[in-house]
Amino acid sequence: MMKIRKNDTVLVIAGKDKGKKGKVRFAYPEDKRVLVEGVNFITRNMRAMRQARQAGIIEREAPIHVSDVMLLCSKCNRPTRIGFRFLADGRKTRICRSCGEVID
Ligand SMILES: [Zn+2]
Repeated sequence: MMKIRKNDTVLVIAGKDKGKKGKVRFAYPEDKRVLVEGVNFITRNMRAMRQARQAGIIEREAPIHVSDVMLLCSKCNRPTRIGFRFLADGRKTRICRSCGEVID
């Protein structure tokens, strides 16, 4: 189970986009990677792909490793580590280690 999920807001803590914030657009639990809006743009030369209508260079985001981001808690607004807690009904939920609030 991955701690970061789709629609989380995260802070990048490593790599060339360190310090950027963004929303998680996709999560790839099997690769432990997330695709974050506006983070880790890679350029691709479309000329290499014959079928592509637009020639030239395009930019798009590439997934980054989940260990390179921290969740930004929507309650205390700080980058935080995530803990887990079981609710009374047995469901597992994520909690913010900074303020202790339930994140889900
Ligand atoms: Zn918090």
